Amino acid sequence: MKPSSIFKKLQAHQHIKCFTVFFLMLAPVPYLIVKCNRFSNSAFLSLLFFTGWFIWTFAEYVLHRFWNHAKDVDKNNSIVQRHHHHHTHPTEISISATQRIIMMFIVCSLVGLSLWLNSYVMILAGMGTGIFWFFQMHYFLHQKWAKKIFPVLVRYHVVHHCKEPDTCFGITTSWWDRIFGTTPHKDKKISEKVIAFYYKKEKTTGNGFLVSSMIDEKLNHVGLGE
Ligand SMILES: [Zn+2]
Ligand SMILES: [Zn+2]
Repeated sequence: MKPSSIFKKLQAHQHIKCFTVFFLMLAPVPYLIVKCNRFSNSAFLSLLFFTGWFIWTFAEYVLHRFWNHAKDVDKNNSIVQRHHHHHTHPTEISISATQRIIMMFIVCSLVGLSLWLNSYVMILAGMGTGIFWFFQMHYFLHQKWAKKIFPVLVRYHVVHHCKEPDTCFGITTSWWDRIFGTTPHKDKKISEKVIAFYYKKEKTTGNGFLVSSMIDEKLNHVGLGE
């Protein structure tokens, strides 16, 4: 069997594993929602909201792992290339402050509408909040101050960007990485050179190029550029 077809089989196996675990975790939720609806309206709406948010955290993980880092697509695939660019230019984040404010407005409207209608729309409000928080958190993870507030998530994101692009796919949570075994190696040290590259605002020069080409190599090694 060709190495590429073995690789495709492994990828398919990973997809099936992730989705099976997710649906098993989600299986009791419809029953709980119906139960909650009978005895407490606020518990019912809260459960719907957190279900929507939980669904998004999984979507965030699988989209990043299997879509942004797709290994069996053409190397000119625009989604993969755009993501590759963000890995090698960590300070360039394409979502602007205005877009984030618009998103916040949409999410607040959805929550308000769900409360008013007292309905299952709250699941969408939970997912919308998850999406908004994802973009917000990604911005935070690239700010120096964030490592004091979100030390684990910042470490995971730096490792993912610069050292092990085949680990740490979660942005707002790390639990899917823990469940699916994509956490970083514990003893992995992050050098000052990598930290400087990750936070640097100006164009990369000198050591920056070294780190950038090292990341290119790692991304290509795990199949991104092939
Ligand atoms: Zn990033
Ligand atoms: Zn990535």
